[in-house]
Amino acid sequence: MSGNTVTCPYCLLNTSGDEPFGGWVYRDDLWLVHHGPIESSRPGTMKIISKRHYTDFAEMTPDEAASLGSLLHMLDAAMRAGTDAERVHLVSTRDRVQHFHAWLYPRPASHSLRGTDFLNAPQHSEPADADRAAQAVRHHLTVTSPG
Ligand SMILES: [Zn+2]
Repeated sequence: MSGNTVTCPYCLLNTSGDEPFGGWVYRDDLWLVHHGPIESSRPGTMKIISKRHYTDFAEMTPDEAASLGSLLHMLDAAMRAGTDAERVHLVSTRDRVQHFHAWLYPRPASHSLRGTDFLNAPQHSEPADADRAAQAVRHHLTVTSPG
């Protein structure tokens, strides 16, 4: 059950050596994090991708399952410090790309919508704003993570 790692876009992104838009915000032995695409993400939106090819939470190794909590803890703090987010929304459907990934959407206090109404509303970024937000989140990860 090796999965379709040859054609999977996230496996290809991991192994290609290509940098996603805004660069890698975070990477370690298990996880990759980068800014969401500007055509569908507000500034500061992050996508977490597992390095290993699998689809569901239940397929995680114990290390993957344990470290996801720490990663979310770290990203929530960095996104709220580095953007105008009052709250960070977590979404993971894996219905289109069946390689584990999760989206973190920063919701500003000033935004008129909440919850799924906020998530369902169109989102986009100007390239400079997304790049600045990616740098700010990366900066706050650097100064708050141990080692
Ligand atoms: Zn994959």
